[in-house]
Amino acid sequence: MTVDIVWLRDDFRLDDQPSIAATADRPALFVHVHDPRPQNGRPLGAAAKWRLAQSLVALERSLALRGARLDVVEGPADRTILALASAADARRVLWTRRYESEAIALDTEVKAVLKAQGVEAQSANGRLMREPWELTKADGKPSGTFSAFWRRHRGLGPLPALQPSPERLASADWPAVAPPRTTIAALKLTPTKPDWSGELSQGETPGEEGARDALLRFAAGALPGYADSRDALAPEGTSRLSAHLRFGELSARRAALAIEDAAAADPRLARAAEKFCSELGWRDFSYALLYANPDLARRALRPEFERFPFRDDEAAFRAWARGETGYPVVDAGMRQLWRTGAMHNRARMIAASFLIKHLLIDWRRGEAWFWDTLVDADPASNPASWQWVAGSGADAAPYFRIFNPVLQGEKFDPDGAYVRRWVPELARLETRHIHAPWRAPAASLLNAGVALGRTYPQPIVDHDTARARALAAFAAIRQGAG
Ligand SMILES: Cc1cc2nc3c(=O)[nH]c(=O)nc-3n(C[C@H](O)[C@H](O)[C@H](O)COP(=O)(O)OP(=O)(O)OC[C@H]3O[C@@H](n4cnc5c(N)ncnc54)[C@H](O)[C@@H]3O)c2cc1C
Repeated sequence: MTVDIVWLRDDFRLDDQPSIAATADRPALFVHVHDPRPQNGRPLGAAAKWRLAQSLVALERSLALRGARLDVVEGPADRTILALASAADARRVLWTRRYESEAIALDTEVKAVLKAQGVEAQSANGRLMREPWELTKADGKPSGTFSAFWRRHRGLGPLPALQPSPERLASADWPAVAPPRTTIAALKLTPTKPDWSGELSQGETPGEEGARDALLRFAAGALPGYADSRDALAPEGTSRLSAHLRFGELSARRAALAIEDAAAADPRLARAAEKFCSELGWRDFSYALLYANPDLARRALRPEFERFPFRDDEAAFRAWARGETGYPVVDAGMRQLWRTGAMHNRARMIAASFLIKHLLIDWRRGEAWFWDTLVDADPASNPASWQWVAGSGADAAPYFRIFNPVLQGEKFDPDGAYVRRWVPELARLETRHIHAPWRAPAASLLNAGVALGRTYPQPIVDHDTARARALAAFAAIRQGAG
């Protein structure tokens, strides 16, 4: 019994990777099991599947550079790992913890069987800055507000030390009687007919190296202005680390400590660094919510929202998803999402609010659309954020906060650059009309080549009418609650 098995799932890096650090001095099997069964009720979305393939290819390269090999197997993860452990006469199986209820159940079962067979099973935190159970209140539940959660988080002191990437690694031979291996390409994670992935991850290089470069670029570039301009839609004012974090190409601790180090070297960065770390804190908060509420993507955290009078309106949903609502900033965000799999946080908030509050369409439909189209589609951050926008989640936006998409556009895309980029049919419209083309004089529209209803849609709902309708719907569920 000498071989270690490192079971890799959404932790595709060598740096600050506890399972890899623990096994660095001996030959091991570095295994990714692609389990096509749905996790927590649903399969991976199409864009995330594509992103997973990129991540695996990059990991294969990183391992090869250290002298090791990535072994890929397709099949039920539990049976595959158990069969491999017994074929390899494994000493230990090591993995990064997960927080989705079905994944926890599967890992617990695997751990029990391994132990019964005399194989050590070692799980570690490689995904979060802090584990959900380190942050619960006295009643065992996560804090109800982010600020309380974050105070508790910060109150635990400095994050644990990082574990650097091993210089050398070695792969053990694949056992003769183990489950058969396959290749990343054979998993068919990338679309072919048609291949719609051309623009995905624009401006982002999947993999650990790309993650490190993005972190350095952010620290040297946008960080000083982060606290003040992270909401601006057009410039690259944020880190673009979310997909790297989602697939574990970068540890959240590494990201936080790198930015804190930058602030230690230059105290003027302190406010920006704290803001950035608190955004990573929202990620931990989302995981704490998912851990405590396995149904986060299916059930409103505030029960009265289960009675919300959502409408069935397929045409409106389609217009939203395609970026054809007639509200330029909403459409720009939705088209950025469709083409690149990414979307600015402010645009996510505006578009999500529009679906729920202007169209009164169930937040779960929007969440599912994002799940399928985002390259960073995350089992915790996506549903937690949707519930936050809906007003049904923890520390949620108040129900009466109904974004006006015109004012949001004017505030966060003041020169219209974001709209011009993603909604090119409006590119020539004067800035003062770009967020409300229906208010532009006929001559301006003509000059810009815009024919409303033909080259660009009329608004599918009137803001004031939609706002009044949403407030009435919220009032109805509140009355029911009282
Ligand atoms: C409706 C909606 C859906 C969302 N779905 C996802 C999702 O599926 N996956 C995802 O990673 N983020 C999601 N977010 C959060 C946020 O929009 C993205 O993390 C952010 O836009 C990523 O860009 P960035 O890496 O440049 O962020 P930065 O501003 O540079 O933030 C740094 C990191 O902090 C984390 N973070 C930032 N904001 C949040 C937040 N509100 N909640 C949780 N973590 C956060 C991310 O990991 C991010 O990479 C969603 C937000 C909304 C409003």
